[in-house]
Amino acid sequence: MQESLLIIGVGFMGGSFSLALQKNGYKGNIYGIDIKEEIVKEAKHLGVISEGSIRLEDVTVFKPDTVVLASPVGTFRSIAKKIKPLIGNNTVITDLGSVKGKLVYDLQRILGNLYVGSHPIAGTEKSGVIHSRADLFEGKKIILTPTDKTDTRALEKIAFLWERTGGVLEFMDPTLHDWIFGAVSHVPHAVAFALIDAIDKMSNTTDLFRYSGAGFKDFTRIAASDPIMWRDIFLENKENLLKTLRVYKESLAKLEELIEKEEREKLTEYLQKAKTRRTSLK
Ligand code: NAD
Repeated sequence: MQESLLIIGVGFMGGSFSLALQKNGYKGNIYGIDIKEEIVKEAKHLGVISEGSIRLEDVTVFKPDTVVLASPVGTFRSIAKKIKPLIGNNTVITDLGSVKGKLVYDLQRILGNLYVGSHPIAGTEKSGVIHSRADLFEGKKIILTPTDKTDTRALEKIAFLWERTGGVLEFMDPTLHDWIFGAVSHVPHAVAFALIDAIDKMSNTTDLFRYSGAGFKDFTRIAASDPIMWRDIFLENKENLLKTLRVYKESLAKLEELIEKEEREKLTEYLQKAKTRRTSLK
């Protein structure tokens, strides 16, 4: 029987997943459900999906053997509850969400052991199906977060799909995932959003943004990311984010102190250490 995959939330990530699979020989049907009619139309027009709907109940029409949750993470629990009675007993489910941790255990409770958490480390500040790219995942880390209850065949099926997108798989505990990505992804986004807010506040007499150069634009590129997606990530990974922001504020306070006291040597050491760390990144 022909494979069939249903993407719920046909945006940048879901669209890229579909295009990457098609590029690499996936021959099954790819369907989509989104809350917006115009997005479903656009996704069809772009060849991301063959058929689509704005009604979750249409899961029964598409009869997918794989479901991919690709909407903002704050929507996953309620979508999972609604689709659970509508999907077949052998349907495997994954998600592309940027948060795992407790969310993975909740989704597993709702959907059962054929659910496998995934997180492609392949984002950009772009959103919307129009930006979907077939090469988005090539050579990129794809974190899979099985638990001790995850069904082995479901895990193999999801891993196989990801391999077809060109992604490089890594397996990780869901809780560890949120600590790591809270630090290296969620905090940098929070800091970029906050810096834009601060510069905006100081722009009441002179528009400071008019004078921003490459450094400012590089640093704040990610503040152009989708607000709903990031609101959901910040709230879903609240504890790790707040812990990591506290450590960040301590580092900022240390820098402030060194500047305030004009401690030239210690200031150089602080900056040199950061430069060495940053330069060593691959
Ligand atoms: P996007 O805004 O491009 O797409 C999300 C889509 O979900 C939109 O088309 C929206 O209309 C739809 N949607 C919203 N609520 C819905 C609902 N209740 N039911 C069905 N559809 C709904 O966002 P994206 O960048 O594709 O992100 C999607 C997911 O991928 C998020 O969970 C995000 O955390 C994760 N992710 C994003 C990135 C990134 O950099 N963009 C990277 C890794 C993971």
